[in-house]
Amino acid sequence: MSETTLINPADETVIGAVAHTTLEEVDSAVARAVVAQRAWAALAPVDRARALRRFAATVDVHIEELAQLEVRNSGHPIGAARWEAGNVRDVLDYYSGAPERLIGQQIPVAGGLDITFHEPLGVVGVIVPWNFPMPIAAWGFGPALAAGNAVLLKPADWTPLTAIRLGELALESGLPEGLFQVLPGRGSVVGDRFVTHEHVRKVVFTGSTEVGKHVMAGCAAQVKPVTLELGGKSANIVFADADLEAAASGAPGSVFDNAGQDCCARSRLLVERSVLDRFLELLEPAVRGFRVGDPNDEATEMGPLVSKGHFENVAAFLDDDVAVAFRGSAPEGPGYWMAPTVLLPNRDDRVAREEIFGPVVSVLPFDDEADAIALANDSIFGLSGSIWTRDLGRGIRVARGVESGALSVNSHSSVRYATPFGGFKQSGLGRELGPDAPLAFTETKNVFFSHG
Ligand code: NAP
Ligand code: MG
Repeated sequence: MSETTLINPADETVIGAVAHTTLEEVDSAVARAVVAQRAWAALAPVDRARALRRFAATVDVHIEELAQLEVRNSGHPIGAARWEAGNVRDVLDYYSGAPERLIGQQIPVAGGLDITFHEPLGVVGVIVPWNFPMPIAAWGFGPALAAGNAVLLKPADWTPLTAIRLGELALESGLPEGLFQVLPGRGSVVGDRFVTHEHVRKVVFTGSTEVGKHVMAGCAAQVKPVTLELGGKSANIVFADADLEAAASGAPGSVFDNAGQDCCARSRLLVERSVLDRFLELLEPAVRGFRVGDPNDEATEMGPLVSKGHFENVAAFLDDDVAVAFRGSAPEGPGYWMAPTVLLPNRDDRVAREEIFGPVVSVLPFDDEADAIALANDSIFGLSGSIWTRDLGRGIRVARGVESGALSVNSHSSVRYATPFGGFKQSGLGRELGPDAPLAFTETKNVFFSHG
């Protein structure tokens, strides 16, 4: 039996092992899900709503346990991990309103009555990465269940513990057997089977652009719908007229949060040339003061990188010949620790163009508004971004000009469960979250009733 040995990234201790789901086990899980889905979709909408509220309430009383599990498995700071577990509860609460609100249309036509239904797809496969194991899973399974589907969840091989616990909590809360199953294991086995199995009717994939393209190509064979949430190289654009103190104090969190292992990380810091020196003066103490250390410490803002392999990938970018402006601090000793790093590359350097997925930010000066927009858009990605300016008109123009799915002006917020989230260009396909997310897990059916 193959399994993965799990390691605490903060101290390199072994915390356990998780067996891989086999191909045969995936197929029997699909068969159980098909049966469970039919019964789930046949329930009264109010009963599905109530079941999801109970699931949310069960998660709520296990927030601390889930958070502690994520601290050990992923090295996330405890404060962040509590937010992540709370986000699962909130997503379930939000979408528990959906079963009773999946309202179709009545369309005026001659000769009878025409109405539309939002029918569930059936069984949905959700494939998630290791960077935010809990929230990203919930953004898939919450609205999918609410729309009347069954869900199979494949956590990342490296970070399966909270997903496995969520699967147990679903059953404890009374969700029917087979409706929400968590299948840890390899992407090339479990994830790939979601793509190839004809009874899995949609795949939601969050991860690298490379694997996402492979999943999309595989789904084409069955014309299977996909939602893709992929990489990013988002711009944080600071204009000379901005509140520079606020922009500089917010910048470290916008890229070093979760040690930069965030698809929304503002890893390109675009600064208007006339204020570059002043901005760097303000940024330096903010970066040096960013608290990197023990994930169990409530004051910690950044933990280690998730694994040795990932640490090496990130470190390889720093071998490039690029000027370092300054670095923050990181603990010595065991654990995959890396200090927050601010680089001053050229626009075409690899560090300024590729997703590093670590605590590294590239500062790039720009000349004017048009140059800022062009530079922000000079990327295969378009996921998130921030714009700092006191000029309202400029805020509007630049927000409309940047080709990105989730932007914020004078703040760094991007992901809220009540607002849509997803990427332009190679950052993804489709949207998660927000009021319309359940519709992405339905087919529209039109029925005409003749009145004879
Ligand atoms: P990854 O290597 O693409 O893996 C993502 C998931 O896909 C994992 O569960 C993986 O399983 C699985 N997988 C691998 N090969 C597969 C295959 N052939 N068929 C089906 N599934 C397969 O990404 P990662 O390294 O975990 O995560 C980092 C990337 O995710 C970054 O590029 C980041 O930008 C992106 N990301 C995007 C978002 C977003 O919302 N846009 C959010 C978070 C992360 P294994 O665990 O077995 O490899
Ligand atoms: Mg990978």
